[in-house]
Amino acid sequence: MIDDLPPLREVIATHGLAPKKALGQNFLRDLNLTAKIARIPGDLSQSDVLEVGPGPGGLTRGLLAEGARRVLAIEKDTRCLPALAEIGAAYPDRLEVLNGDALDIDPTQHLSDPIHIVANLPYNVGTELLVRWLTPTRWPPFWSSLTLMFQREVADRIVAQPGGKAYGRLALLAQWKADVHIAMTLPPEAFSPPPKVHSAVVHLTPLATPRYPADPAVFSRVVAAAFNQRRKMLRASLKGISPDIENLLRLAGIAPTDRAEQIDLERFAALARIIAGAQARNG
Ligand code: SAM
Repeated sequence: MIDDLPPLREVIATHGLAPKKALGQNFLRDLNLTAKIARIPGDLSQSDVLEVGPGPGGLTRGLLAEGARRVLAIEKDTRCLPALAEIGAAYPDRLEVLNGDALDIDPTQHLSDPIHIVANLPYNVGTELLVRWLTPTRWPPFWSSLTLMFQREVADRIVAQPGGKAYGRLALLAQWKADVHIAMTLPPEAFSPPPKVHSAVVHLTPLATPRYPADPAVFSRVVAAAFNQRRKMLRASLKGISPDIENLLRLAGIAPTDRAEQIDLERFAALARIIAGAQARNG
């Protein structure tokens, strides 16, 4: 046992937390597993943790039992609040719960540096938050690491290398700004109810500066256009970006007949710089 609180199965039953599909509720069942996830970011005793979507609190308990200095948990479902209050009582002054939508709340007011983010979220909210966390106005970001549970397929898209179907905007954005790896994979049975697919925990640590220089807006526009029509040759998919695109592609070391999937991060960044330079010259 990681703590003296009741087992998760009992918490879910006592508080009537019948999982709601609309909120993407697949709850982790095993506290040893949640403690293991909580260890992925390393020693948290000198850190605050932002947990998004604590639900009945399995991961919250893992984080607190593993010694996190403080946890700020943002949960949309009011039904979970009494269960979370019991955890707060067992760990005095170490858990703050905010009831609301994580997409609408600025957590930084409630946290002190260093801040690690840990979450098991519905994948659509998870990807939206990941993109936001990777595109703040200033870099390095407010967080020191992200430890995020996703469907396996989404996790694969974050860590993908050129040459396959999983490679695209998410891989390029994440790997431009951070070191990324899959830290753990979980079978459907780890959750209640079991989802249809496997899951994986992705760990991201931010680089001090993006891996290659490029203007973020131009980089993002080029990558979006390239993968919007990923089966087309780049001279066609990027035609709208510049009338001189074939030439600019060649300058970046890219054959105009290449497809987006074949181009690595370094060359996308080079292309973004060359396009930005050409646009600056042409006014
Ligand atoms: N962390 C718990 C666990 O691992 O057992 C629950 C995980 S469950 C996959 C996702 C949780 O996120 C649910 O408790 C759900 O109510 C909550 N949630 C869904 N959308 C949310 C949002 N926009 N903001 C905050 N919490 C959200």
